[in-house]
Amino acid sequence: MKYIVVTGGVMSGLGKGITTASIGRILKNRGYEVTAVKIDPYLNIDAGTMNPAQHGEVFVLKDGGEADLDLGNYERFLDISLTSDHNITTGKVYQTVIEKERRGDYLGATVQIIPHITDQIKESIKSAAQNSNGANKKAEICLVEVGGTVGDIESMPFLEAIRQLVGEMPKEDIALVHVTLVPEDNMGDHKTKPTQHSVKVLRELGLHPDVIVGRSENVMSSSTKKKISDFCGVAQKAVISAATAKDIYEVPMEMEKEGLASVVRDLLHLEERSVDNEWYRTVSREYTKRASVAIVSKYGIEDVYISIKESLKHAGRSLSTEVDIIWVDAESYEMSTLADVDGILIPGGFGSRGIEGKISAIEYARENNIPFLGLCLGFQLAVIEFCRHVLGWENATSEEMGEGKHVIAILPEQEDVTDLGGTMRLGDCEIDIKKGTRIEKLYGATRIVERHRHRYEVNPDYIPDIEKAGLVFSGICGPRMESCEIPEKDFFLATQFHPEFKSTPTHPSPPYLGFVEACAKRRKGE
Ligand code: GLN
Repeated sequence: MKYIVVTGGVMSGLGKGITTASIGRILKNRGYEVTAVKIDPYLNIDAGTMNPAQHGEVFVLKDGGEADLDLGNYERFLDISLTSDHNITTGKVYQTVIEKERRGDYLGATVQIIPHITDQIKESIKSAAQNSNGANKKAEICLVEVGGTVGDIESMPFLEAIRQLVGEMPKEDIALVHVTLVPEDNMGDHKTKPTQHSVKVLRELGLHPDVIVGRSENVMSSSTKKKISDFCGVAQKAVISAATAKDIYEVPMEMEKEGLASVVRDLLHLEERSVDNEWYRTVSREYTKRASVAIVSKYGIEDVYISIKESLKHAGRSLSTEVDIIWVDAESYEMSTLADVDGILIPGGFGSRGIEGKISAIEYARENNIPFLGLCLGFQLAVIEFCRHVLGWENATSEEMGEGKHVIAILPEQEDVTDLGGTMRLGDCEIDIKKGTRIEKLYGATRIVERHRHRYEVNPDYIPDIEKAGLVFSGICGPRMESCEIPEKDFFLATQFHPEFKSTPTHPSPPYLGFVEACAKRRKGE
């Protein structure tokens, strides 16, 4: 097992996750089995209880792990499925160490950050790297991204653990990549001082980078690279320029052009292998059609729905359709905003803020036969909208939202749940698909597996009446309704599950493919 550890300098939000995933893609294109681990130095056990408006999307893994959104980037770029072990947090590490201490595993020792926490970090990294359930095959190379910025108090034990790993391993088994900001002054000159400072901090911690990836708006000149090389003690060819790309999926190609592949090959003593360009061809397919999709949401930031955004892109690429996303504020939009769009998408969410706006958007889509895709909360609201306006149950609502006729009710097993962390219906579940439905056509299967994250469901008491009125529950998992559709509409589909968590550029998700195709047809007036 070889390791590539990625750290970040100067500031957060540089695209370290995309850089990590891109390095992985470059190796994967050469046939290496790659896996990835994200270290998040916060005290939360996982991202499940964190506000997505602050932290970005909570990405759901197949085993139900609620993870940092970078795990989504790894899965999309590397076409692998990871587990909660691939997201190591300070909370998880301390929890494990404290449990061991209570069991008496440390045999009377004073339990300390060094060696006990650092040993646990090393063990967690190694076991995640070996976990062959994560990667589809046993991985040969494991990427380890250390969240945050070097110098943060929180990340100190992790960087110390990495320092120890470097000391314990043959040099050719571990490489350090440092991603930093290289800002431009108003003359357009690249400034290397922040990079020099962050490398200095890294060196004080006993870590010497093998590769520096400089993030900047425009490509760095060779003189800038030479300066970084001279001041930071890194070979000039190992100073890689990562200019802002038009599309994240172009980043591996750009880094490939910068010569990153041969630098990594030399560092890790990898054999020369030919490159399979299939992935590059897939992500750069030409667009010949367009479609606009309104996403009605209560959050003003797109990172909350990054997997949905990417899934639309994956489906769009494979259908040669450029999807323009229009972010619509659920609480303040004018109906006329929806008049010109080719499709309406209602994403997942929690709490009652903005739901009336979302329900009105669904009503508009249904009445005007505009392609509609509802996801999780969007599925529940589609059921509520149908009950209110087709069945005439004006007070239909969800138990989550307060008083009314609860056509959406708490899952029975959730009734007594008091802890909020990790207790929803989470991760993979098998779903039976009804024959002859739209969703059967889209998946080409009568049994599928998709990921979940919810506490509420369609109230079983009302299912017969709802179905009699024409809403078809086309997917079920035992007593749970998993999808609904209106057959006579051009495209009206909603799912309790989240198909966006399994979509990748090479395997676009079937509901998204169907939706984007319907939107493109509407645009062309077909
Ligand atoms: N709030 C809803 C529930 O808990 C929907 C969750 C979601 O959209 N992820 O069931």
